This record gives sequence, structure tokens and C-alpha cells, in this order.
Amino acid sequence: MLSLSDRYFALIVPLCVLLLAAALVGCWAALRYQRHQRYLLWLAAGYALSALALGWQSLLDSSEFARWAPVTGALYLSGAWSLAQGMAGRYGCSAHPRIAIVLGVVVLGVLYYYSHVQEQLLVRMHWLNLGLGLMQVLPMYGIWRSKPLNDRLERTLRGSFLVFACYTMVRPVLILLLVPGLQGSDIPRSGYWLVTLAGTLIFALWFSMLLLACTVRDVLTTLREERNHDPLTQLLNRRAFMEAAKSLLEAPRTAPWAVVASDIDHFKQVNDRWGHACGDQVLQSVSNVLRQQVRKGDVVARFGGEEFVLLLQRASLQEAEAAVQRMRQQLASTEMLTLPNGRQVTLSFGVATVQDLTHLSLALSRADILLYEAKQAGRDRVHVDVDVPATAAAVHVA
Ligand code: GH3
Ligand code: MG
Ligand code: MG
Repeated sequence: MLSLSDRYFALIVPLCVLLLAAALVGCWAALRYQRHQRYLLWLAAGYALSALALGWQSLLDSSEFARWAPVTGALYLSGAWSLAQGMAGRYGCSAHPRIAIVLGVVVLGVLYYYSHVQEQLLVRMHWLNLGLGLMQVLPMYGIWRSKPLNDRLERTLRGSFLVFACYTMVRPVLILLLVPGLQGSDIPRSGYWLVTLAGTLIFALWFSMLLLACTVRDVLTTLREERNHDPLTQLLNRRAFMEAAKSLLEAPRTAPWAVVASDIDHFKQVNDRWGHACGDQVLQSVSNVLRQQVRKGDVVARFGGEEFVLLLQRASLQEAEAAVQRMRQQLASTEMLTLPNGRQVTLSFGVATVQDLTHLSLALSRADILLYEAKQAGRDRVHVDVDVPATAAAVHVA
């Protein structure tokens, strides 16, 4: 029989796990506005169901153990699947509910048989643990394939989940090996049970801490993204452009650099004729074209209104000019799906060279002046810095 202290310990564990479930629900409530945090609720359900089963079994008398085996088994299995579903939800994959139902029915059938038809505690124990482990393994393939494993925190979270699933499956074998001679009837009130409780608590604590760390990190990442990006076009804003430009200009291997100031021509007319919503969609289409036309590592930003600024790396003034001409032509031939008859919009550009970080503001002003000149000269054209001998003079294209 369990001593009084063991009984306390046995109840403390499910209570602690329930508290952790409550903490996860609290976490979800705080982040409710982010839909993808719903997985926290599944994990909380997984904790709560397992805690319920553990608490119930801990209080049961050994004579009643068999009678309630299918019920506690169902709680354990649904708890394990909820955990799996929570993990699957975090990584946007599936915990295969149909397979889980089949697995659950088979395991519960076996539990019923070996509790109500033929009493065999050891067999029940092995089947239940195997079922729990398999439930947890269900989403593993999807989880492993979902994101690159270059993040240590995510790797630890997924690894811990897999280790716990494996531990669940081998736990009965391990205990039988470590404590030879253990009889089936001893098990509910044995060291096996205490090890099960302790293992569950340690895993629940460790896993919750990892989850909280991942959630805090997710929230910070989202906030940083929101702070740095223009919500309409998802391009960098002026602030983030300056930060990105700083790190680019501090890497000499990315030299030479060119900065490009650009502005949609007669954009006010688009708004006036077809409405502000239509203007917004034009801004998004233009942003997409600019994003597609630059190379990896180049910086594209919306500085406000219909003005876009680019910082091109490994681009001499001539190379930058050629790239910007390609962009201009691409934009001039892109039909704006939201405008009547697939009309196009044009942009004007000013291109200046950037010598280093200290020269960035000056280069931006220079590109702005060149953009203004391009507008004055008739729009839909590229004006390139005249200070550099290779480009000689402003280039008029339109
Ligand atoms: P120009 O060729 O000289 O650049 O003429 P323009 O009409 O493009 O320039 P102007 O500065 O006169 O007008 C810019 C317009 O851009 C006015 C403003 O309402 C519009 N605008 C600024 N931000 C947004 C936005 O986020 N959405 C929409 N739809 N319009 C915007
Ligand atoms: Mg404009
Ligand atoms: Mg403007």
C-alpha cells in the first residue's frame, strides 16, 4: 500500500500538472488575438486530461483498478492525443485524428478485455503505454518536416516531445528490467507508479518551460515584424530600412552599393478616379514587382505614401542603372489587375552611389534630387548620378 506521504506525492503531481495546464490557458488568453497560438489550448487539454487520469488512479484502491481501467485509459489516451494535436498545431501539421481514433479503440478494447474478461494488469500496462507513445508519435513526421531545424529552442522542444513519447513506450519494460520480480498486483502501489508520476511531472515542467520560452520568442518576433514592416505592402519601413542598410554597409564584401529612390507617377489620379482601395492594391502590386526584381540581400522599403527606396548591393552605378531599367520596364508592362482594362502605372527613379555608412543620408538626398529631376523631365524614367564618370550624365529613357 502507499504510505501517507506517497499518497500526498501522488496527488501533488496531478495538481501541479493541472496548474501547468492553467498556465498554458492563461498564456493562450493573453495571446488570443494571434490565431496561431490556439495550439496552447490543445496542450493545456492534454495536460489536464492526463492529470485527471493520474489523480483518479492515484486515489483508487487496487481492487478497483481493473474496473476503471477502460475509463482511465480513455482519459490517458485522449490526453496523449491532445498533446500530439497541440504540437501538430504549433507546426501547422496534422496529428491524424482518424488513425488516433482507430488506435484508441483498439487499445481500449484490449484494456477492456484484460480488465473485465481476463484480469492481466501487466498486459494492460504494456498496451496502454504503447498506445500513449504511439499517439504522441503520430504528428512527428509532419513536425520534423515543417520548418528547418536551425533553431535550437525548436529543436529542443521537438526532441523533448519525441524523447517523452519513446520513454512512455519503453517505461514498463524499463521498470521490469530495473526491478525484476515485480508482480503485476504490486504495480499500482509500487515504485513503478511513483516513477511514472515523477517522470510525468518532470516532463510536464520541462516541456512547459520550453513552450513558454518558445511562445515569448514568437511574440517578440511578431512584434519586431510589426514594428519593422509596412502593414499594407509588407515591405520594410523607413526605420527598418536604416537598420538593414547599416548592417549591409558595414559588410565591405557587399560593396559597391547603390541607393534608388522611386515614386509612382500621378498616383493621386489613381485614387481620385478609382478609389483609395484600388490605390492600395496598386501599391501592393508595385511592391511585389520591386521585391521580385531585386537580388537576395538587397533592401526594399516603402518610405511612405507611394515612395519606395532600394539599397542594392554589389552594384556599380551602371549595374544599378541596368537593374532599375529592368524594374521600370517590368512595372510599365505589368497590368494592374484592379485597374480598368488592366491599365499600368509607371514609376520614376533616381539612382545614386553610396560610398559607406556615413555617406548614406547624403546618397539618399542625392537619389531624391535625381528622382525629382526625373519627374520634371516627364516621369517614367531613370536618372542616374552625374558625379560618377562612368555614367557621364543623366539617362533619359522614356
Ligand atoms: P507625381 O507623379 O508627381 O508623384 O504625382 P502623384 O500624384 O503621384 O503625387 P502626389 O504627391 O500629388 O500624390 C500622392 C498620393 O498618394 C496622394 C495620397 O493620397 C496617395 N497616397 C499616399 N499614401 C497612400 C496609401 O497608403 N494608399 C493610397 N491608396 N493612397 C496613398
Ligand atoms: Mg507620385
Ligand atoms: Mg510622392
